[in-house]
Amino acid sequence: PELERLGVHESVELVFPPSELAEFLSDLPVDVAVIDDDEIDSCDAVVTLEHRDAFLELEWVHSIQAGVDRFPFEEFEERGVLLTNSTGIHDRWVGETVASYLLAFARRLHRHVANQQERRWERPEWDDGFTLPGTTACVVGTGTLGSGVAEVLGSLGVRITGVRRSGDPVEGFEEVYASEDLLEAVADADFVIVTIPLTEATHHMFDAEVFDAMADDAYLVNVGRGPVVDEPALIDALETDSLAGAALDVFETEPLPEESPLWEMEEVIVSPHCAAFSEDYYRAVGDLVRENVDRAERGESFHNRVV
Ligand code: NDP
Repeated sequence: PELERLGVHESVELVFPPSELAEFLSDLPVDVAVIDDDEIDSCDAVVTLEHRDAFLELEWVHSIQAGVDRFPFEEFEERGVLLTNSTGIHDRWVGETVASYLLAFARRLHRHVANQQERRWERPEWDDGFTLPGTTACVVGTGTLGSGVAEVLGSLGVRITGVRRSGDPVEGFEEVYASEDLLEAVADADFVIVTIPLTEATHHMFDAEVFDAMADDAYLVNVGRGPVVDEPALIDALETDSLAGAALDVFETEPLPEESPLWEMEEVIVSPHCAAFSEDYYRAVGDLVRENVDRAERGESFHNRVV
């Protein structure tokens, strides 16, 4: 595409200040400006968090997230609008977040913090604590997030297995299963870590059958997308002690509704869809955008193209 004006859509402010990204990209050979909904038609391309129908008139839309399930792919295709995403940048950030959930469960940090809020001096039961070396994490999704999780947990002595569609081996994973063998893959894991995108195939992939196949003392971690997990089935498994606990960054409804029982469960850690938050986020997105502006100038195909 021929690009003259690139808008940084104001919706990115849920993740970082739009002006930081606009400033970072100010040396590009195209005009870069922060825009609101009324200024979309002044651009040929946008960098955005949310979708707007007015984007369908543009040449190119870049999502600051890796997950692009909120964009209508078919309409992009019909209108000839390019869609690119931000996969490839979240590995270390999400890896460290997942490690912090696992360390909290093992060393009981979430309980200490909850007790501290109540000024309550309460030690864990003698057999509540454990250490990570020798435990097994089954990481479902072996892409950027999955590999980042595998790298950080691997360095803590966790044995890593994985699940992907093909089951082909991936560096950093001791064993990789195909998705049809999910029940077998999760059976001997202490932690099951969900890092897959939301697609028609992955909607409610984690349901009562999967929770039954997991050990009673296993934890579920979801840093992929909420609807990949059947949330009522998860709540049921937690309430009936057929799982030990869960760390959840993403939910079927976001923000997580106030009435959700997940808020108050002792062995559940809730984080508000921020597993990848980092002060460096806008720079990493900026590097991806810069690369594609360069490619557009050279007439080459785009990096991270989804549609
Ligand atoms: P990648 O494309 O790098 O990896 C996706 C992985 O999922 C691949 O390993 C793919 O493996 C696997 N996969 C896809 N479909 C299936 C399936 N049906 N069964 C089993 N495995 C499957 O993406 P990222 O790692 O960058 O991001 C993954 C998702 O994580 C995003 O789509 C987004 O929804 C979410 N995310 C959440 C964040 C947060 O803040 N919580 C931050 C960043 C991302 P293969 O192709 O081999 O099947």
